[in-house]
Amino acid sequence: MAVSAPIAAPQPKPAAVAEMEEVSMHWNGRPVLDRVNLRLVPGERLMVVGPSGAGKSTILRLLAGLLLPSAGRLRIHGEPQKYLRLDQRRPPDVRLVFQNPALLASLTVRENVGFLLYRHSRLKDQQIRERVNMALEAVGLYGIEDRFPGELSGGMQKRVSFARALIDDPSNAEGRPPLLLFDEPTAGLDPVACTRVEELIVRTVALTRGSGVVVSHVMSTIEHCAEQVILLYDGQFRWNGTLAEFHSTDNPYVSQFRTGSLRGPMQPAEL
Ligand code: ADP
Repeated sequence: MAVSAPIAAPQPKPAAVAEMEEVSMHWNGRPVLDRVNLRLVPGERLMVVGPSGAGKSTILRLLAGLLLPSAGRLRIHGEPQKYLRLDQRRPPDVRLVFQNPALLASLTVRENVGFLLYRHSRLKDQQIRERVNMALEAVGLYGIEDRFPGELSGGMQKRVSFARALIDDPSNAEGRPPLLLFDEPTAGLDPVACTRVEELIVRTVALTRGSGVVVSHVMSTIEHCAEQVILLYDGQFRWNGTLAEFHSTDNPYVSQFRTGSLRGPMQPAEL
């Protein structure tokens, strides 16, 4: 009797957290992003790299809902993003971590980290305290809940901003994985501080079971945080691949970026 090999059922593609299809962005008629495509699945960390002015922050601002594309389609959890989220009863859970910790100076660390819960949840004060303490412990901070940001070192403030990104959005009733956006999180830091922040990025994305998009041009950050890499130059994705491929490819844009050479296809106006 002939035994036919079982046919493997096709694996369904995981639902995307964020998708861009042919997205363009124009400022004063000039294309800053030109028909870019991107698909991000839960648990993935994507690094967007490229020289200054390439359009990296514009990608983050579009994903954060702070800008609308001039053309193309942007979906978060399958939902088209059309009106800067003002139309959405339940806007997607998108959390931003800036280069600057952006803490509110007049609020304590507890109030900063628990900000969303104090404003939008029905949790009791004690429950919020417990969640805030867990988030602070996850980033290695203990016993500072009653302090004000101005009383902390720059590094501690940065940790507090990561703890804030660990707090679940209470309006995210379906518990869909959050999208975490990191804008130049390690720019201007010394190498040891860089490594600490890079560990925090990996840990924060893992703890939230979310997806992370990191904009950076710091090589150690790419090294420690990237799973997928996109190189953006002059509004277009010139290359994308895994971190291992980023090291080995001879794509001229990636080669120039890796070596910092003045020779190559990327010629910023200021060079
Ligand atoms: P990057 O983050 O890679 O440095 P950006 O996304 O900030 O690049 O900017 C890409 C281009 O878009 C730059 O040339 C910048 O001057 C232009 N740009 C960004 N925001 C605006 C704006 N609000 N108005 C006009 N031009 C803008």
